[in-house]
Amino acid sequence: MKKLFYLLLILAFAGCTSSNRETQIIILSTNDMHAKIDDYAKVASYVDKVRSENKNVMLLSGGDMFSGNPVVDRYEDKGYPMIEIMNRLGYDYGAFGNHEFDYGQDFLAKRIEQATFPLLCANMKVSGQAQIKQPKPYVIFNLDGIKICILATIQVENSNGKLIPSTHPDKLKNIDFFQPVETALEYKYLREKCDLFISLSHDGIDEDVILAQQMPELDIIIGGHSHTRVNGMIENGVLISQTECDLKYIGKTTVTLKDKKVTDKKFELIDVSTLQDENTEIKALINKYYEETPLNEVVAEAKADFSDKENLGNLMTDAVVSVLDLDIAFQNSGGIRIGKIGKGDISLLTLYTLDPFDNEVVLFEMSYDEICSLLKNSYRKESKYADLKAAGISYTVKVKDDEIIDMEIRDVKSGNLLDKNKKYKVGMNSYIASSYKFDHADAGKTLSVTSVETLIEYLRQQKEVSPQAGRTKIEQLN
Ligand SMILES: [Zn+2]
Repeated sequence: MKKLFYLLLILAFAGCTSSNRETQIIILSTNDMHAKIDDYAKVASYVDKVRSENKNVMLLSGGDMFSGNPVVDRYEDKGYPMIEIMNRLGYDYGAFGNHEFDYGQDFLAKRIEQATFPLLCANMKVSGQAQIKQPKPYVIFNLDGIKICILATIQVENSNGKLIPSTHPDKLKNIDFFQPVETALEYKYLREKCDLFISLSHDGIDEDVILAQQMPELDIIIGGHSHTRVNGMIENGVLISQTECDLKYIGKTTVTLKDKKVTDKKFELIDVSTLQDENTEIKALINKYYEETPLNEVVAEAKADFSDKENLGNLMTDAVVSVLDLDIAFQNSGGIRIGKIGKGDISLLTLYTLDPFDNEVVLFEMSYDEICSLLKNSYRKESKYADLKAAGISYTVKVKDDEIIDMEIRDVKSGNLLDKNKKYKVGMNSYIASSYKFDHADAGKTLSVTSVETLIEYLRQQKEVSPQAGRTKIEQLN
């Protein structure tokens, strides 16, 4: 009898604990995909698998869906391929990334309309004149009896006294932005309204750490923007993660709740390159976009490999000099976005990948001394590297004890030293014109043609191109 009593007691207790049921929530996340659709068939297959094995699965975007692949960025309806693919994968929510604005508000408004996953942002105030609508700062929804809150923020920086996300200011008309961490702190009260509190932050890892330090009310921060590989770090009890960029990784956060209280949270980075299976429908969709793009058009033939930035920079600057009939042109190494163009066909896709920025060419009338100041300031001391690739001239930086002591600039055709008394017509992209330091009496004139447009025109004219001899040299003097 006594035994039976104890048995009943144990059963009653067991029954009681089983009503305090344990729930597992899995959050899959990607951030900073930058229109890199190529691996989405693998990601889709992985998401399918996790969904088939688990009951409560969410898929979130940490922002920056766009900008980085001409097939998406130069699609007639800019960015649409990315939205179609993300819709098919069944993303649940996304943060606004700064690059979401790159195509302009008219395109963004359409993409938001088409997306089956709402984009959220708390630190953004959209006025009635803007083309996009005010996004929700957060959502609260129920998943398997668990109340989940997702609060989203976007990165900002100071641009002439205004806080804006990193994109062209013209794209942000009639929208005000605020500090992401300060804004998030205003939502601390949401902790009381949910069981699982997630920040979907496109703020960058440094801000995420600060946010975690100031807002332990959060359970998780799913980050983005800084392209950092954050394999689940705990800061002030908050689990922070980020999946680098370009769909290299999928984030997998597993949260266990008992009695609606978070009892465990784990993070795992899934390396997409190690995944084998592909979702065939998504694969077909990606192939369709690559096959249908007008960017497959071949515009010229490379007679040999353009194997480094010197070769490619020479080609890009030769185009500016030739098409715009200038004396000299410069191209910054950072703006040369691929390492080589192999022998054979050169397509528009290759060219837009090489030079994706749509920077217009700026023309300056410059003296020898002014050209010298530009070349001196662009020399990279740490790496002993001549950053600016050139056409019209070749130049040698003479260095002693890490200091530039002389500069030799020659006309590339005649081989003669440049005339110190002449003015030269110099072309460079608007990025160099606005961010490099150099003397120039001429304020510069923006031409209504982009550097990539001159390159395309040049290659169409030339039909065949060969790599040219290097035009930059560093000479170490002892
Ligand atoms: Zn970003």
